[in-house]
Amino acid sequence: MLDQLTGNERVKSLLRKMLQALRVPGAMLFTGEDGIGKKLFALEIAKALNCRAPQGLEGCGQCPACKRIDRFNYPQSDDSEDWKGIIWTDHPDVGMVVAPKRVLLVEQMRLIEREANYRPYEGKARVLLIDDADKLNDSSANALLKVLEEPPHTSHLMLLTSRPGMLLPTIHSRCQMIRFSPVSPQEIETHLLKNKIASGSEARIRARVARGSLGRAIESDFDDYIEERTAMLRVLQALAVSDDRIQLLTSAEEFNDARHKDDYEARLDVLEALIRDAWMLALHAPEESIVNEDLLPELRTISERLDGERPAGWISQIEELREQLLVNINRKSATDALFLTMAAAAPPLGRKRFVPR
Ligand SMILES: [Zn+2]
Repeated sequence: MLDQLTGNERVKSLLRKMLQALRVPGAMLFTGEDGIGKKLFALEIAKALNCRAPQGLEGCGQCPACKRIDRFNYPQSDDSEDWKGIIWTDHPDVGMVVAPKRVLLVEQMRLIEREANYRPYEGKARVLLIDDADKLNDSSANALLKVLEEPPHTSHLMLLTSRPGMLLPTIHSRCQMIRFSPVSPQEIETHLLKNKIASGSEARIRARVARGSLGRAIESDFDDYIEERTAMLRVLQALAVSDDRIQLLTSAEEFNDARHKDDYEARLDVLEALIRDAWMLALHAPEESIVNEDLLPELRTISERLDGERPAGWISQIEELREQLLVNINRKSATDALFLTMAAAAPPLGRKRFVPR
């Protein structure tokens, strides 16, 4: 049932309308961040179309058909040869292709076309997912166009991507686009608590640093996060409390150790979350609004040295760097520059401010 999925209420209501009108498009493009639920939503449609005991318009989630749709038979090996076929679920009408290496292959699209042209074996509709559709290159995209243009009415092709901009316009124009929005931190936290994935402050922190992605909140390594946060706290302390340039440059170096662009961006997220917390405290916001509540004493010390403008400036400098990252700047010099600009913005406020009681 769509109700059991977290977030994206607007998408749910759109899909319900399509089911109600018996007009689930033959070609759909699901776009939105990784880990946001695109695949789960696509599978819900597959269940709605093939359920043996539908609840209203939707799949029951309990009957054998629904249960089998939940189980993909992923290859056991990492050998890319084994990943070239369609990865079927336990249901013979629902399957998916993924890129065996960096691109989706022409032969995979031919398989999709062939399978889409068969009538359903068991259920009412064939549902074929193409994961990370941004990995289609010109040839494989072209190989898909014909079936995408006019799939048989019992077949539904669902392309999933976090980077819709990478797809050819000819793909876009043949698909009905379904846009997913980031899931709110509250929705993520509730999900983590309800499913006993995390509790207390861990759930709260995971939810708030997941950038709207439920998958990221679930899969992220919390110990790694805590380690990164300790490093970023040192940056903030050097900026706000000790005005220690040497510490800043050492931290910049550690910061650049991030092997992947994603890790690097995750570090920026962590730093930004700490700055926001200190800023909130400087503005006397209630403690419940603090993400890293277990660091309250440290954050308080930092906040006592901040006025409202400095953290605002830091956040906008970080945002600027993020934009530059999109065009592939040199990360190392960018980080050095960021930290030094942040330090230069204004010296820390003098020792503890006098607060009248
Ligand atoms: Zn069912």
